[in-house]
Amino acid sequence: MIALIIAGLIVLKLAVQFWLDWLNHRHVLAHANAVPEAFKEVIDPATYAKSIQYTLAKSRFGRVEDTYDTAVLLAVLFSGVLPWTFSIFTGWFGTPAWAMAACLFVIGMTLSLSGLPFNWYADFHLEQRFGFNTANAQTWWADRLKGLLLALALGYPLLVLVLKFVEWTGAWWWLWAWGALLGFQLVMAGLAPVLILPLFNKFTPLPEGGLRDRLLALAERAGFRARAIEVMDGSKRSRHSNAFFTGLGRFRKIVLFDTLVQQLSGPELEAVLAHEIAHFKLKHILKNLLLSATASLGAFYLVSLLARADWFCRSFGFEPGNLAPALFLFGLLAGAASFWCSPLAHGWSRRCEYQADAFAVRVMNTPQPLIAALRRLNEKNLSNLTPHPLYSGFYYSHPTLLERRQALLCLPA
Ligand SMILES: [Zn+2]
Repeated sequence: MIALIIAGLIVLKLAVQFWLDWLNHRHVLAHANAVPEAFKEVIDPATYAKSIQYTLAKSRFGRVEDTYDTAVLLAVLFSGVLPWTFSIFTGWFGTPAWAMAACLFVIGMTLSLSGLPFNWYADFHLEQRFGFNTANAQTWWADRLKGLLLALALGYPLLVLVLKFVEWTGAWWWLWAWGALLGFQLVMAGLAPVLILPLFNKFTPLPEGGLRDRLLALAERAGFRARAIEVMDGSKRSRHSNAFFTGLGRFRKIVLFDTLVQQLSGPELEAVLAHEIAHFKLKHILKNLLLSATASLGAFYLVSLLARADWFCRSFGFEPGNLAPALFLFGLLAGAASFWCSPLAHGWSRRCEYQADAFAVRVMNTPQPLIAALRRLNEKNLSNLTPHPLYSGFYYSHPTLLERRQALLCLPA
């Protein structure tokens, strides 16, 4: 019965995804014939038509991928393959933490292998067709291999530690596991920019000169002591452009994609930088960290309850009392459950974006460079300019160009 309800909820999620997609598809086509008024001066009809083609192609691909993911999830949950794999592992090695963690790791790897053909298609067909992909097969496979080795070197020991806490601390394991995860995340936030990101990309300090002086002066005006502004070779993989903030304390730095530096003018880059600094100054980064820490505390507590719950474990063919399968089942189901919370999470994220935009305008004294930068980025990334509001509610972490422009123009001067 429980199994049936869970399966029903998973299928319901797919149905809602299809419905949202259908709404969005109609909405986009209804606006497809003419460039919307607000974009007339910035986007030519050919680019606009291309952005619609890109949106529709992505949504076709998304429907196939969502269906496949749902089928795989249902098969893994209800075919009996999980208890079967666990029984093989326990038959060979017993139930020490390292063996249980290895079992979870092998199942997790197999699952992510099953998604590889889709990842490949997305990069080498979809993105390629619209001129975004710049990666070659060698870079692509190297990325996957590095990801696997990192998971093995960092994820596996963490998993063993979490399972070990059950032996060491008994009923309170979930609190200890949460503390360990939090400590790990903090250490990684500090070390990733130094140890991990360079494995995937090359970072070079922004060269001395006009642009660097301009951006450092802007950071100073925004009340932010920039340790470093670096340029990342994002063009190695894609023509999509971005900027982000990374590191903690002394190691924090601002990273601009080389594609962004090529696409934007000096004042536009200043505006983007001011927006990124705003996320830091307005404590969005800290608040997000606290929110995710609270969520993971709740998640660990929930797993501790589920691992002991008869109805939960038996629905999937396990005996209650074993943490490893409960942890894995929770991981699989959390993905499906978080979909329903995404409008809330995205609502929060969009609020932060508006606040960061307003901060950037205060620093720049004018909204124009930010508006110009957003327009250019939308054009270069072929973003969907006219998503259906329900669709963007579920899937967009940032307001659309039109919403941001309207908010920017309404700010008090
Ligand atoms: Zn932002």
